[in-house]
Amino acid sequence: MNASDDSQIWLHKHTRREFRNRMNAGELKACLIPVAATEQHLEHLAMEHDWRSCLHIAELVAQRLSPRVVVAPSMSIGMSEHHMRHIGTLSALPGSWLGLLFDTIRSMNHAGFTNILVLNGHGGNIAPCQGIWSQFLQRLEINLQFRSYWDFLPEDVAEAHLKTGRCPGHAQEFETAFALAAFPENVRMDAMEDQEDREPLSATAEAGAAMIESIVVNVSDHVVSMIDGRSIAEIPPFH
Ligand SMILES: [Zn+2]
Repeated sequence: MNASDDSQIWLHKHTRREFRNRMNAGELKACLIPVAATEQHLEHLAMEHDWRSCLHIAELVAQRLSPRVVVAPSMSIGMSEHHMRHIGTLSALPGSWLGLLFDTIRSMNHAGFTNILVLNGHGGNIAPCQGIWSQFLQRLEINLQFRSYWDFLPEDVAEAHLKTGRCPGHAQEFETAFALAAFPENVRMDAMEDQEDREPLSATAEAGAAMIESIVVNVSDHVVSMIDGRSIAEIPPFH
């Protein structure tokens, strides 16, 4: 494993010796944990969209910040009860989902990381995480942050590239543009034409590429600010 080897951004591609050596050398400064969902995305977009897009951002960020950042395996199932009417959707209940997320975070903290960014790609995961986050922070007392990747898309960039102005929406212009730019095989153009929701038709690969680039730059800057101590999660007071 060397600096030009792309596999070094993935935790699961390391042997235990390779990973141990990098941690002992102090090379790895932050860990990204992508969390998302596998759920219906209207008629035209593949169900993997949320985790695939989240993983795509995490991969590009880790490449940009190599060798300082490692990406833990993505949680590809999310909390998606609101989409269960469309079969094929997977959904975990908050108790089990948050338990697994906490155990993933705890394991990465045990490995030595104190800067951990949980990078989210699914709207349904936000409220449960916000509800529990202060307790996660009190339990671990580390720089543990939760952010959705679209939080890092500046409003003016979104405005410049989205005709509908909706971001992120659900399988609409933003997500469809993202897919057209990053994994176009996930977009069924014929189904887009004949479904009720017309917003995806505004999406272009060019807009998707521009928005992805902006998000990657901003997530990367944020991770650097976590590493160098400019962005530290505040531990809520203990009573
Ligand atoms: Zn989505």
